[in-house]
Amino acid sequence: MSEKLTAQIVAIGTELLLGNTVDTNSAYIAKELGKQGILVKGVAVEGDDQSRIVSALQKALSESAVVFTTGGLGPTVDDKTRSSVAAAVGRELIFDEDLLKQIEARFAKFKRKMKPNNATQAYIPANAIALENPVGTAPCFIVEEGDKALISLPGVPREMKYMLHNVVIPYLRKRYNINQVLKTKTLHVVGMGESDIDSRISHLEELENPIVGLGAHAGVVDIRITASGDSEAEVDQLIADVETEARAQLGEAIYGEDGETPADAVIRMLRARQQTIYAVESGTASLLASRLAAADVGGETFVGADLGATKVHGSQLEPVVEALVTSKGTTVNADFVCANVVTSEGKDVSYGTAVWTKASGLLYSHHTDVSANAAYVSSWGANACMARLLKYLREVS
Ligand code: ATP
Ligand code: MG
Repeated sequence: MSEKLTAQIVAIGTELLLGNTVDTNSAYIAKELGKQGILVKGVAVEGDDQSRIVSALQKALSESAVVFTTGGLGPTVDDKTRSSVAAAVGRELIFDEDLLKQIEARFAKFKRKMKPNNATQAYIPANAIALENPVGTAPCFIVEEGDKALISLPGVPREMKYMLHNVVIPYLRKRYNINQVLKTKTLHVVGMGESDIDSRISHLEELENPIVGLGAHAGVVDIRITASGDSEAEVDQLIADVETEARAQLGEAIYGEDGETPADAVIRMLRARQQTIYAVESGTASLLASRLAAADVGGETFVGADLGATKVHGSQLEPVVEALVTSKGTTVNADFVCANVVTSEGKDVSYGTAVWTKASGLLYSHHTDVSANAAYVSSWGANACMARLLKYLREVS
């Protein structure tokens, strides 16, 4: 492909405009096309109004080689896709005997009675490529106009997905000679803010391939590296080069990759050292403990938690969490004790975190006051103390 292949989507159905149904189909199609290196340039939502659908289709076809419709393929009069597609490309709707047989066979298989209007589904634009829909009754079709393709898929998400993966993507790869391999690797950073990361790797974020993007959530920042190329080896090399540079810039702050959570990394590193961890929490719905427990499936690394109630707020939290981890450290048998305490006064939420180590006592304590919801702050606090622990573990290993 010399020029980048682009696509547009027209989602059809008045229920989408009324807000009764959310247009998840367009998002799904866009994401799957992205994996093929096809860029979706526009999404339009239209009601069951033929003249609007026709102009949306014509506009889309004038701008992109590939145009999708989703929805409106049913047998009722408000299903306008067949007639609109035909009108948009100036073709007649033609009765297709084979399609009718397929529809009859589907109804027979499901032991459902076919209504006379189901036969309207056997009408498709002249010279369209009929696509059998083995998971539903509405047949789909592709209209080829020169080097363009107008592809009509069902509205029912399950049917749309089936047709997209089994018929349409193979068709597009063949017709447009798509051999692209696309891969994503995600690096996770804790203990460093998004803007700090951004300032260190902004040169990577300006690359065209791989595309490097940041996503922040509760103290963890994801660096997504997505590369495309003609072969797996080429794509792997592109990702490896960017990863090397990102690690050089961010070093220790990168705790893991792809599916690994901070808790997974803590458990992995403690297991390797045959050490254990204990959690102390208050006001967090035992978030830290549940994350450590989930990461330590069948293991003996996370040895217990104390879920108390702490009312002090703001800067007073710091001595409290320090005292909590230190007293637990001396009474429970664990190599590390982490605390995560969240309290609120009206809209002001504070979290206090601390880490204690058997080897050297109190390692760290910290409090932050924020205006955010307590669940989010709990997650933030849990990540903050795990970040500090991970930093320590890397330093001593
Ligand atoms: P059918 O022949 O089964 O009626 P259809 O192609 O006519 O298929 P629609 O009638 O438009 O599809 O939609 C069927 C159902 O699919 C809707 O009730 C809705 O729940 C869902 N749906 C339709 N369009 C979308 C969309 N864009 N995103 C998510 N769901 C959708
Ligand atoms: Mg319908």
